[in-house]
Amino acid sequence: MMIRNALDHGVLIDIEVSNNLITAILPATGGFHSGDVDAEGDEVLPGLWDEHVHIRSWAQMRTRANLLPADDSDAVVEILRKHPSDGSEPIVGHGLRWALWKNPPLMSALDAVSTTRPVVAFSMDVHSVWINSVAAREFDVIDIAGDSGILREHDAFRILTRMSDIDDDLMDALIAEAFTAAKAQGIVGITSFEMESLSDWDRRIGKGIDLITVRASLYPERIHEAFDRGLRTGDSVGGRVEMGFLKVITDGSINTRTAYMHAPYTGEDTIGVLNTSETELERLVRESSRNGVTAALHAIGDKANTIVIDTFEKVGVAGRIEHAQMVLPDDVQRMAKLGLTASIQPAHAVDDRDVAERLWGERVSYAYPMKSFLDAGVKLVLGSDAPVAALDPWHTIEMATARTADGRPAWHPEEALTRSQAIAASARSTIDVGQPADLILVGPDAEIRSATQ
Ligand SMILES: [Zn+2]
Repeated sequence: MMIRNALDHGVLIDIEVSNNLITAILPATGGFHSGDVDAEGDEVLPGLWDEHVHIRSWAQMRTRANLLPADDSDAVVEILRKHPSDGSEPIVGHGLRWALWKNPPLMSALDAVSTTRPVVAFSMDVHSVWINSVAAREFDVIDIAGDSGILREHDAFRILTRMSDIDDDLMDALIAEAFTAAKAQGIVGITSFEMESLSDWDRRIGKGIDLITVRASLYPERIHEAFDRGLRTGDSVGGRVEMGFLKVITDGSINTRTAYMHAPYTGEDTIGVLNTSETELERLVRESSRNGVTAALHAIGDKANTIVIDTFEKVGVAGRIEHAQMVLPDDVQRMAKLGLTASIQPAHAVDDRDVAERLWGERVSYAYPMKSFLDAGVKLVLGSDAPVAALDPWHTIEMATARTADGRPAWHPEEALTRSQAIAASARSTIDVGQPADLILVGPDAEIRSATQ
């Protein structure tokens, strides 16, 4: 087949596709035959990947009311009352920001949403949750919830876990819907980091949920599933699901002051936490490399990144660093030398700019690198970390190029990417002969369609 009249870097081209591979690229002839796809001058791009997704949480969050716009208790009640939901299911919202309200939250206020169904409103980072009296009774937390109805930390996580414990069929249906939405945005694949088993993907493959490619990763507790099946990174699990990575969480996050640092947080005693010891990390990476599975190691603080790089160096293999939020300039060079991939989330840089300046002070000069990675020759891939940011590749690309979301000047614009760099880091293929024909067309109003189906 031919894709005709597609715009590539300002030039109209025809693309010949055979067996889902690009077999020729020619100047557009203006001709058109039946069976051809007419791009009508739309821009052609490689299909986009989101390289860091927590698909269960994202699929579920898409169904919840968005509370981000609410700046007081009444506004939250208003949004939750209007949120479409049925039966006796809890009414759930996400994105609560009660810490900034003039009047403190009251459990009784949330009862205005419903006096018969649990109402649950999570904060953005899920470290707190506001519940109504029905939820307090149902979850047996009346004493802890008090008059405010606010639960924090462990108590909030417990509610979150309960709410995510849903039936497999319902979860699969939500994931299928999330795939449909992702595909409409030009996504052709995601790397999933979810505390799941490969059998969850076997079940979804059996149901024909195959709209996009999934690299399914495993955490240490379940990595033996890949070893037992002899699956190496990139091997087919079935359908459009491929074996992903061994995911290990080495440190925490900046907002909770648990990212592991060489020197204490500004004005505090803590240097953060290492969740996995260096010895254990090395053992895990060694074992998984012997089995052909690439490691994707979560590292946010500068010391966590140093340790992770040391580990790859000791084992003598390449791999990915997830987040790589604060990397010493020397370590950026070491990453390039070792062939490591930086898997980063541009929206985090923009969302965290104030907290990073407060907690890391002058060290932000080497935080959230993007351009520095490319300049050093480090392979860069972009993702959202959905549900922390939206699974929206265009938002990711915009945050990578603009480094601001609120009208303020770009934060450390020297680290911004160009649009082409951001697109290249969001794709696994290029528009060249021999490459997969996973192509998308972007119209003048940013409407997106698949070029090949
Ligand atoms: Zn994540």
